[in-house]
Amino acid sequence: MAKWVYLFKEGNADMRNLLGGKGANLAEMTNLGLPIPQGFTVTTEACTDYYNNGKQISEEIQGQIFDHMKTLEEIQGKKFGDTEDPLLVSVRSGARASMPGMMDTILNLGLNDVAVEGFAKKTGNPRFAYDSYRRFIQMFSDVVMEIAKPKFEAILDEVKEAKGAKFDTDLTADDLKEVIAKYKELYKKEIGSEFPQEPKDQLMESVKAVFRSWDNPRAIVYRRMNDIPGDWGTAVNVQAMVFGNMGNTSGTGVAFTRNPSTGAKGIYGEYLINAQGEDVVAGIRTPQPITKLEEDLPECYKQFMEIAHKLETHYRDMQDMEFTIQEGKLYFLQTRNGKRTAQAALQIACDLVDEGMITPEEAVCRIDAKSLDQLLHPTFDKDALKAGKVIGEALPASPGAAAGKVYFTAEDAKAHHESGERVILVRLETSPEDIEGMHAAEGILTVRGGMTSHAAVVARGMGTACVSGCGAINIDEEAKVFSLGGETIHEGDYISLDGSTGKIYVGDIKTVPASVSGNFGRIMGWADQFRRLKVRTNADNPADTANAVRLGAEGIGLCRTEHMFFEPERIPKIRKMILSKTQEAREAALMELLPFQKADFKAMYEVLEGRPMTVRYLDPPLHEFVPTDPEDIAELAKDMGMTPAEVKAVCDGLHEFNPMMGHRGCRLCVTYPEIAKMQTRAVMEAAIEVKAEKGYDIVPEIMIPLVGEKKELKYVKDVVVETAEQVKKEKGSDMEYHIGTMIEIPRAALTADEVAEEAEFFSFGTNDLTQMTFGFSRDDAGKFLDAYYKAKIYESDPFAKLDQTGVGQLVEMGAKKGRATRPNLKLGICGEHGGDPSSVEFCHKVGLDYVSCSPFRVPIARLAAAQAALNNK
Ligand code: ADP
Ligand code: MG
Ligand code: MG
Repeated sequence: MAKWVYLFKEGNADMRNLLGGKGANLAEMTNLGLPIPQGFTVTTEACTDYYNNGKQISEEIQGQIFDHMKTLEEIQGKKFGDTEDPLLVSVRSGARASMPGMMDTILNLGLNDVAVEGFAKKTGNPRFAYDSYRRFIQMFSDVVMEIAKPKFEAILDEVKEAKGAKFDTDLTADDLKEVIAKYKELYKKEIGSEFPQEPKDQLMESVKAVFRSWDNPRAIVYRRMNDIPGDWGTAVNVQAMVFGNMGNTSGTGVAFTRNPSTGAKGIYGEYLINAQGEDVVAGIRTPQPITKLEEDLPECYKQFMEIAHKLETHYRDMQDMEFTIQEGKLYFLQTRNGKRTAQAALQIACDLVDEGMITPEEAVCRIDAKSLDQLLHPTFDKDALKAGKVIGEALPASPGAAAGKVYFTAEDAKAHHESGERVILVRLETSPEDIEGMHAAEGILTVRGGMTSHAAVVARGMGTACVSGCGAINIDEEAKVFSLGGETIHEGDYISLDGSTGKIYVGDIKTVPASVSGNFGRIMGWADQFRRLKVRTNADNPADTANAVRLGAEGIGLCRTEHMFFEPERIPKIRKMILSKTQEAREAALMELLPFQKADFKAMYEVLEGRPMTVRYLDPPLHEFVPTDPEDIAELAKDMGMTPAEVKAVCDGLHEFNPMMGHRGCRLCVTYPEIAKMQTRAVMEAAIEVKAEKGYDIVPEIMIPLVGEKKELKYVKDVVVETAEQVKKEKGSDMEYHIGTMIEIPRAALTADEVAEEAEFFSFGTNDLTQMTFGFSRDDAGKFLDAYYKAKIYESDPFAKLDQTGVGQLVEMGAKKGRATRPNLKLGICGEHGGDPSSVEFCHKVGLDYVSCSPFRVPIARLAAAQAALNNK
């Protein structure tokens, strides 16, 4: 018989895949002899079984759950379902990777109308007993039955108001009985039956709800954002309750062994006296800093500090811990490697190396490559900041500077972000439903909640600036307006937030890019020692290039030349070229473009200081350049000596049914070789001149796009070689140059052995390769991919994360076949995937020479390349 359930005593930290992170760590802490309320874990395999079983928990699993409940009863000396002295439990989810806020916990399970009275008598604390029961009803109804939480909160607020109670702790036992009666009424109204009284039913329903929650829309979004496979499943932990809501020698809290925001050494956390579970996180009352516990309960504080230290040493990493104190006795309820900002991650990794706890290799592997992005985010311009007006100050919950227009709902934030605005999300407090809006925002401002509130934790995870707990704000979420520091801010007004100081400013304050020295430089230095892959950037102007070089780019992997044609001075010239009726006229128009293109290349070569640059020739279909506006058409007509109608006719003639597969890429050069001639002249003249002027050792790399056939490449290549040789002769230069191609059409990958006869390098253009392999376009896929995620056909966006099973095979095949023909063939990738860590690892494994990505992703790629090398030794 399979084993589906493990006592905490039976597990350990290495069993994370089976027991989930929370369960494995509860087991490990039990083995370490720490004060852990005992319990058992229903495995992730049981979750998978539930889904394979048509969402049913099998008899066998149910049987094992109840057997383990018996054992737990023996350990605790109480009976589950007893009416005098009931064993109460919590039901907690816990996947392999922690998914904060995704799946909710149920506390105090096992209470019912009769047991609550026995419980009140037994504890001699009726207020506490009824508080526990009302919490249980609320959590069970919300998590299991999906009755909206605000409906319960409204009842609680209503009773609080009627009794003149400021906090929930001010309510008496009788007040709480009233709350319970109203809760149960609401339950009956919503569900159509009484609140379940049988503890066994309560338990099985809760376990099922945890399994179900693995597939709720929020969890699916989170998994997609964090690369967590859908088939991992979640475990369920059933644990004896301890109570932090028994009075003033009880409490609950969360703490980190180091500051999760900055990485500074020293305990960091918050707690609330006389509170339970998530009260600290939910921002119901404002919590105390953990150091105050030393005054309140010195013995507990001492023991707490000892255990915290022990855990950090044991796990050799910063720990995020949850604890509860029941009448002066301390219990640990959770520990895990704490989430942290990128800044803190670097600080902690470097400190742990200096403390001799980990090696530089481990330090490099500890940093979440994607998170580096946060560090590269801007700070405020010092002068602009001086002129800024502070309207308030609250908790610096997640660092970084942000300025944008205020919106009050996640939907509005998302919508305005999509239409190109910078937005700041302002909320009373955030909840998991807000996740997409938070993602869209430059910054988040909340009225309630501490440093460990939902908003703070999630914002730090995403690297979004966040200021939380600004109680001074007077907000009307309905009317979409708030006031603070004498200013009234409406929806759409600009504010600026400093997540590092907690300051809130009115207006749109200018921001500047971040610095890349210190710990960042140290970790990157180690990464550079360990990686094999080179990292280049995609850039087509000197400013982006300089930025990428500052961030460690070793060259340009993709310079898109068409971007150079869109500037106002130039576009009329390319239009002229397009409208030309003869080759001579086209050549004349192109000659007008030559100086611009050459000057651009010169500027790029100068910034690169000898680093390589792959120049890709004109790629988009020509219709992208022609005017649509009648005024522009008229002007062009005048220029060309044509009538507007004639111009319009030519433009209309360029219309294609499927431009993505139309007259573009190397096909342009096959029909108009003069384009390739002009571009070759520009590259070669620029390279030769910069080499002469600055002494850089330049070897131009010319890349022909959209090749699907060797002869096609040969045709264009002949044009390039002829011109290049011509320029060299004119300039008396012996410059070397390389001609290669993009592999972005499946046929090119399939015939890569032949293509390599003509190409000196390949660059996998995985954006187009993905489009062509999947047969859907990147620009249109957004409209239906959501349905595919929902139906679990695809788990992630293949344009963001390389599809290794399909598109990846083409890359691997292209690389192998290409190298079979030409062993020293240089291989790179230049799609968006070049900056995605899992895709970078793939590139490492299939033996590419370099990845190329957008400038801000260069550090991510450097780190991911090092991790790939270390993890695939
Ligand atoms: P999350 O993963 O969202 O933090 P948890 O399962 O850790 O959810 O639980 C939520 C809260 O309930 C935490 O504050 C935790 O400490 C508390 N809690 C969970 N189980 C117990 C228990 N057996 N006794 C007391 N408090 C508990
Ligand atoms: Mg939670
Ligand atoms: Mg927890």
